[in-house]
Amino acid sequence: MGAIYLKNQEEIECIRESALIVSKTLGMLAAEIKPGVTTLELDRLAEAFIRDHNAEPGFLGLYDFPNTLCMSPNAQVVHGIPNNTPLEEGDIISIDCGAYKNGFYGDHAYTFAVGEIEKETQKLLNITKESLYKGIAMFCAGNRLGDLGYAIQAHCEKEGFGMVRELVGHGLGREMHEGPEVPNYGKRGRGKKFVDGMVLAIEPMVNQGTHRIKQLKDGWTILTADGKPSAHFEHNVALIDGKPELLSTFEYIYKALGIESDEEVLYRKKTIIL
Ligand code: MG
Ligand code: MG
Repeated sequence: MGAIYLKNQEEIECIRESALIVSKTLGMLAAEIKPGVTTLELDRLAEAFIRDHNAEPGFLGLYDFPNTLCMSPNAQVVHGIPNNTPLEEGDIISIDCGAYKNGFYGDHAYTFAVGEIEKETQKLLNITKESLYKGIAMFCAGNRLGDLGYAIQAHCEKEGFGMVRELVGHGLGREMHEGPEVPNYGKRGRGKKFVDGMVLAIEPMVNQGTHRIKQLKDGWTILTADGKPSAHFEHNVALIDGKPELLSTFEYIYKALGIESDEEVLYRKKTIIL
């Protein structure tokens, strides 16, 4: 995945700017997600929105990916390609989005419910998102990658959910994928030590059933081996003064959906102006 580049404050602000464009894009999409809309329609909205913010879609053309968004409904884990199939009531849709501006990337993801979803599926979404914050809480100076991975894994596996192993989080900056790899599993006290200036994309991918995955012949789409749903939440986080600081936000999504949440408060020094 390449080398680890530590960032200065100026570089971190550039990543924050790109990350917030992604946050706003996901917030815009939140209001558009309903039964009948296709993932390709949402993709086109996202591309126009990102370009309107003087940024470029981060995924479009990256490793030859054909679209702006990775759109992974239901049993798809990640890297789904937008298409003309309408979303249906009861679906979940994981949307992963990247933006590139001023030489730096933002990259994060959220899994949305389409209308009413099954209780067990809602639990999968809740636990996966909670595990993301458990991981972020471990991203402190002196801790190690294994502490972060362990916290995410333990939270999901105690509910019987399957932790995807083959796909991991990553460093983020001038490249979409920099070192280190950030596994969503691990052993406490093991792995690289966290230091100030690291910027990570932390992104648990969690399956309702088996952790095993397979890939479609399109060469992109990853889906669960047993056909059960999968969730994906991702934040961009910088290590500043020994503590994690969120560069991305789900607040635009929550505003669009009328959700009250204080989950980000601990990890934010700067107020987000919605
Ligand atoms: Mg992503
Ligand atoms: Mg990522």
